[in-house]
Amino acid sequence: MLDRLNQQPPDALLALIKLYNADPRPTKIDLGVGVYRTADGATPVFGAIKEAEKRLVEGQDTKAYLGPEGDMGFVHALMPHVFGDALPTGGRIDGMQTPGGTGAVRLAVALAHKAGVQKIWMGTPSWPNHAQILADCGMETGTFNHAGDNGSADMDALRDVLAKAGKDDAVLLHGACHNPTGVDYTDAEWDEIAGLLKDSGVPPIIDLAYQGLGDGMDADAYGVRKVVSSVPEVLVAYSCDKNFGLYRDRVGALYAIGGDADVVTRVMSNGSALARANWSMPPDHGGAAVRVILEDESLTANWLEELESMRQRIGQVRAKLAESGTAGSVDLTPLGKQKGMFAMLPVSKEQVQQLREDHGVYMAGSGRINVAGLTMGNIDAFVAALADVTG
Ligand code: PMP
Repeated sequence: MLDRLNQQPPDALLALIKLYNADPRPTKIDLGVGVYRTADGATPVFGAIKEAEKRLVEGQDTKAYLGPEGDMGFVHALMPHVFGDALPTGGRIDGMQTPGGTGAVRLAVALAHKAGVQKIWMGTPSWPNHAQILADCGMETGTFNHAGDNGSADMDALRDVLAKAGKDDAVLLHGACHNPTGVDYTDAEWDEIAGLLKDSGVPPIIDLAYQGLGDGMDADAYGVRKVVSSVPEVLVAYSCDKNFGLYRDRVGALYAIGGDADVVTRVMSNGSALARANWSMPPDHGGAAVRVILEDESLTANWLEELESMRQRIGQVRAKLAESGTAGSVDLTPLGKQKGMFAMLPVSKEQVQQLREDHGVYMAGSGRINVAGLTMGNIDAFVAALADVTG
């Protein structure tokens, strides 16, 4: 049996980490893996998480099973931060905890599939796991161009898709801080998208994995809130792994907004059944730590402060990159208005290799960079390297 399995390609970013670690050059720059980094290159545990963990160690008196929906205190405490004033009432929303945003996307797609959706449209490029999850769930994938040539979203492509989508189609949208392009919809574009979704009846799945790392917690939720206020049914896949720095603890949630409380109850029962068959229940620790923070005003304030400082650092790096203008053939100015940790540079695989070999700059073969891997101290060297290989 097992010898019938074919070898799968290694994860390219994990292979890149190995190469980076083996590089002795002190000036090397890691723009590969998608985690936030401080100006010192660290990815520290949030102070608010440390305090919440301390309280959990002291106060938690059982590790007995929860249910497939995980820690509902966590799920509900997070809800006002995600939905704000747009939080649906009358039982039109509920959620469940998932193993990271990945688990939430997986559950959203599986639920859509179970509800009869045959095809999901997604803008490309996208987070590579989107396509893998769709394929693994037996979902047909339709693609459209996400980012236009001017560094803004390609709205025409999305308009076309929503006009032609069939009755069993859904659309997958990034809520904020698009991975890998950094190209987000503006508020005016979200207003239009909400109207198009309403008119077309195409149900949206919104993946919100970086709330707070673009323009702030409320600003980054503009699209989700606008859509939720405009259409009867939305699935929101949420990750706390970036905005609480919990990556390996796997903290996420899936929220379902339905036409009425009865629909939502049925969605949740299907979500629970799917979770049970997939992972039984999500890991508890990280979600519990988030709940402890969100149930305590002063810890919530600490968390928001830490998140804000990350956001500001990302903004400073983006602004400095944009100020550099062009580096060889690469125009860096659009990076100033793009959002979140990622940007796509128009570089070839050969240029990516040259950046690595000649300059110790490590980035994904696709041309994606994690801007949080840059500091005020190494941006000039990075820009010079980029100019060298593309000039
Ligand atoms: N969606 C997007 C767009 C992402 O970039 C990521 C993380 N890379 C996720 C979902 C999943 O995040 P998590 O680590 O919480 O599973």
